[in-house]
Amino acid sequence: MSLSEITDRIRAAERKAARPEGGTTLIAVSKVQPNERVQAILDQGHRVFGENRVQEAAGKWPDFRQDFPEVELHLIGPLQTNKARQAMELAQAIHTLDRPKLAKTFARLAQEMGQCPDLFVQVNTGEEPQKAGVIPSEADAFIKEAQGMDLPVRGLMCIPPVDEEPSLHFALLAKIAERNGLPDLSMGMSGDFEKAIAFGATHVRVGSAIFGERVPPAT
Ligand SMILES: *Cc1c(COP(=O)(O)O)cnc(C)c1O
Repeated sequence: MSLSEITDRIRAAERKAARPEGGTTLIAVSKVQPNERVQAILDQGHRVFGENRVQEAAGKWPDFRQDFPEVELHLIGPLQTNKARQAMELAQAIHTLDRPKLAKTFARLAQEMGQCPDLFVQVNTGEEPQKAGVIPSEADAFIKEAQGMDLPVRGLMCIPPVDEEPSLHFALLAKIAERNGLPDLSMGMSGDFEKAIAFGATHVRVGSAIFGERVPPAT
C-alpha cells in the first residue's frame, strides 16, 4: 500500500473518531527493510521512522541523516541497558521504557548529556510472560517513579497479544494514560492502526503496510 493511502486512512480514522486532523503521527517502521525502500519513502517526504534495534538504526540512519537531517527517529524495540547511551544519541523518542534499571540509566545519562529523548512507558497489557513492559497493575507506580527521576515521560506504548481483540488493550492503555495525565499513546500497527486511532492513538507504528512484507534477515 502506498504511503499516501496509509495517510488517507489515518486522516479518515481521525475524522470518524472526531479527533483533530493531523493529531496522529505516522511512524514508518523501517526495520529490516532494504535501504531502497526506505529511500523511496524519504523521497516522498516522510520524515518520521521507527526501528526496533539500536545496532540496525546506528548502521542506517546516520547516513540517511546526511541528506535528511530533519528525520525523527523512534526506537520501538526492547532496549538493553548497555545500549541506552547509543539509543539516546540516535533517537528523538524511545517507546520501550519498561523497568527501573533502564529508567535509572536514562536519568544518569540525561544528566550527563544534558538531553533526553521523549519517553514512552511500555505496558504489557496482555500480561504475556515473553513480552516486555510493565504489567497494568504496576504501571502507575512505575510512571511516577520515572517522573520522579525527571525523565520526560510523554506517554505509553503497547503491543497487544496477536490472538486477541486489540481494542480492549488500546482502551486499557488509554485509561492508564488518562489517569496519569500522559498525553501520548503509541499503539496500532499495520493491521489495526485505525482501531487504535479510534481509541486515541497519537502515534501509530506501521511497517509492512507501507514497505511491504519484511525481507527476513540473512542468518
Ligand atoms: C515491527 C513493529 C511494528 C510494525 O509492525 P507491522 O505489522 O509491520 O506494521 C510496530 N511496532 C513494533 C514494536 C514493532 O516491532
